[in-house]
Order: sequence, then C-alpha cells, then structure tokens
Amino acid sequence: MQFSENKKTCLSLIIPVFNEADAVGLFIDKVTKVFEADPFIEIELIFINDGSTDETLGSLLAIQENDSRVKIIDLSRNFGKEAALTAGLDAAKGDAVIPIDVDLQDPPELILEMAAKWKEGYEVVVGRRTNRDSDSWAKRVSANWFYNVHNIMAHPKLPKNVGDFRLMDRCVVETFQQLPESRRFMKGLFAWVGFRTAYVDYTRPERSAGQSKFNGWKLWNFALEGITSFSTSLLRIWTYIGLGVSLVSFAFAMFVVIKVLLYGVDVPGYASIIILVSFLGGLQLVGIGVIGEYLGRTYIESKRRPIYLVRRTYERSGKNGS
Ligand code: UDP
Ligand code: MG
Repeated sequence: MQFSENKKTCLSLIIPVFNEADAVGLFIDKVTKVFEADPFIEIELIFINDGSTDETLGSLLAIQENDSRVKIIDLSRNFGKEAALTAGLDAAKGDAVIPIDVDLQDPPELILEMAAKWKEGYEVVVGRRTNRDSDSWAKRVSANWFYNVHNIMAHPKLPKNVGDFRLMDRCVVETFQQLPESRRFMKGLFAWVGFRTAYVDYTRPERSAGQSKFNGWKLWNFALEGITSFSTSLLRIWTYIGLGVSLVSFAFAMFVVIKVLLYGVDVPGYASIIILVSFLGGLQLVGIGVIGEYLGRTYIESKRRPIYLVRRTYERSGKNGS
C-alpha cells in the first residue's frame, strides 16, 4: 500500500483470549504505552473471546468503557485459537493486521519495528524467536521434531521458531480470506499464501499472567493437524511400505521353497510366524488409522460448517451488538 507522511495508518491487533482475565489489563497498559509515542499510528484492538469461562469478557467490557479502540467479538463457545484468529482477520479493518497473544509473550513494542519494515515495502513481517528459553525442555524438543518432520513431508516448508505473531498487509489478509477450508492450521496457511516477507528477531519472554493453554496432548494433535493439512505423504508412504513388505516376503518364500527342496519340511517356526503376523497386523492397523485420519478430515471439511460462531460483537462507535 501507499504511505503518505502525514496520513495516519491504522493497525488492527487481533488478540484471541481464552480465560485470560488476569492478562488483558496488563496487555492494554503495555500496548497503550508503546503506541502513545507515535502520532501517525492509530490502532484497533480486536479481542476475540474464545469461550472463556472466567471473568475475561467482564474485564474486556470494563476496559472498553474508557477505550474506544477496543472491539470485542464474543464467540459462542471455545473454537480454538485458529478459529478465533480467523474471526479476528474477518473483522479487522486496518491497513495492516497483527495477530498477537494477550500474555505479552509477543512483545507489542516489536510492532513498531514490523511497521517500519512494512513501510519499506514488505507485505508480511514475521516475528522470529531467537531462542526458546521460555519454553519447557519437552516443548523445545517436540517443537524441533515437529518442524523437521513437517518440513520433510509437507510443502511449503514452515520457517522454524515462528508463530502467529506477524504483521500482514491488507492485501495479504484479503487473499487469506479466500482460503475456503474450515480446519485452519494458521502457521501453514500463513506460509502458503507467500508474499514478500521480512523477519524481525526477538526473545520470547515468560507469560505475563495465567497459564499456557496448550498442553502435551493438545500440541500433539496440533502437530498432526499441521502435517495432515499440508501433506499427503503419510497416505502415500503405505504404498512403499506395502511394496517393501511384499518384496521381503517374496524373497522369504523363495528361500523357503529352495530350503524345502534341498532339506525337506521343517516343523518349528511357530514363534517367527506369530511375530510376523502380529507385526504385519499392527502395521496394517496403523495404515488404516492414517487413511481414517484423512477420510475424517475430508468428512468434516465436506460439511462446510462455519469456522466460528459469534454470540455478540461489542463495538463502541456506531452499532452495538449483532
Ligand atoms: N487461546 C485461544 N483459544 C484457545 C487457546 C488459546 O484463544 O483455545 C489464546 C490465548 O488466550 C492466548 C493465545 O491463544 O492469547 C496463546 O495461548 P498460550 O499463551 O496459552 O499459548 P503458548 O504461548 O503457551 O503457546
Ligand atoms: Mg503464551
């Protein structure tokens, strides 16, 4: 987009929140401090309440009383961070849009750096973590494994140590909205749309308040979601495994025939048969599981259900409620 020196640019911050009553106030204070220094940037704060069961909505409404920059989209239940981000992207009106976590793990001051790169002509400016010290050992190792496996199997490759925190020009957001799928692995979709991309590095701090919403099992499912969303190699691999096993059993059959012809029939072999049968049985079940996973995805996708449902939108200027 074109920038003129004296015209205000509007940035939309998209903030998904799920049980974050303690974190929202800290977030607003920080963001206000960061942006009060720049008179040419106007911000719009779009909070997506992703089915919180605590006081999050109440806190947001109280903040909105005195802060007209705040818009709240209250989803009808917990749809997950990916769906909440999609709701935010659909509602954002800014010249650039920035998905950001509410827990201050994505430092708001970095947005100014991102905006500077954007003004240089980059359409996407991505926050990249220089280290993962604020993560647990298990999360670091599993994340590393995930990226390696994902990038071998899927296309396009995901840049490492990059999350949803990024600045996107309006033209990118509009392209993004054309993607029709209802199961949305945002990181992958962000990589898929492409565009001219720059990176800004940062160190990820600890959470400002509350607890992480992503435990081991949720992360495992998230990883599966990522790989199955962007790769069919898990399906194809069974052709090769099947071929390999058939070749080995053919060679084994030849060996047995020759052995019988030379030395006669040999009765022992019970253990090896059981091992082979159970091994192949297991292998087949895994294969069926993988096919089931993809079939399930096709099934869910074919229903064309909406990605999220809004209970109500709270906006200060103009219409209130929807
Ligand atoms: N979040 C959400 N819906 C969910 C889970 C998380 O909107 O079902 C939000 C959460 O409130 C936070 C952001 O997503 O603003 C990142 O979550 P979290 O900090 O728990 O993830 P982590 O930083 O541990 O990966
Ligand atoms: Mg966090």
